[in-house]
Amino acid sequence: MTRDYKRLAMMVVDWKRRNPEKYKAQKMIFVAVRNGTLKRYPCDVCGDQKSEAHHEDYSKPLKVDWYCKKHHGEADKARREREKLSPTLV
Ligand SMILES: [Zn+2]
Repeated sequence: MTRDYKRLAMMVVDWKRRNPEKYKAQKMIFVAVRNGTLKRYPCDVCGDQKSEAHHEDYSKPLKVDWYCKKHHGEADKARREREKLSPTLV
């Protein structure tokens, strides 16, 4: 259990190191929602109130769509598919 947690924590650290842009964008959203600059909306697809910010473009950190966990996964998958199709735009 403790080791699993440690491994997870290491994965997060590793992820931040490999994805500084994404980490920065997520942090900006967190701060913007907290100080009222950005409004949290329900899931775009199903209206679930427990929404998460989804970035289509990490170079525009405050431009996000809101999805629940399930639809966020689907939106991320769709974006990855698009990135595969147009790697030069990433
Ligand atoms: Zn949803």
